[in-house]
Amino acid sequence: MAIARRPPPDLFKLAVNQWTQPFWQATKEHRLLLARCADCGHARMPPTPFCPQCQSQRIAWTALSGLGTVYSYTVVTRAILPDMDAYLPYVPAVITLDGADGMRLISNVVDIEVQAITVGLRVQVVWDDAPSQAVAVPRFAPVAA
Ligand SMILES: [Zn+2]
Repeated sequence: MAIARRPPPDLFKLAVNQWTQPFWQATKEHRLLLARCADCGHARMPPTPFCPQCQSQRIAWTALSGLGTVYSYTVVTRAILPDMDAYLPYVPAVITLDGADGMRLISNVVDIEVQAITVGLRVQVVWDDAPSQAVAVPRFAPVAA
């Protein structure tokens, strides 16, 4: 049995812009935010410059519970980067976020035997601090029973 591991949070360099900066700022406090249109309430993830429903640029950031459901996933057993060799296996996943009108976040499922991961698994956010970039990376572990 292999446990889904946590890829190193500092392996990749985040490119933050004015539309994503509030999201990453909140991660420092381990808060998961969703961008909603401040005019019509439409959720958008990732936050884009214009609302696809009404073209407004105004965003109201709202806090999410951090709960979600595995929509899709894959188990990586061969590293494509040498720096990832020590972190196998890891599990990239698409998570449908509770309270986000069906919006999904690409992340990792961690801290669970890979054979126990299924589509529909209930998960909750866990945070991996990335000190060199002054953010935390949201990852998802099974909901505690
Ligand atoms: Zn809108």
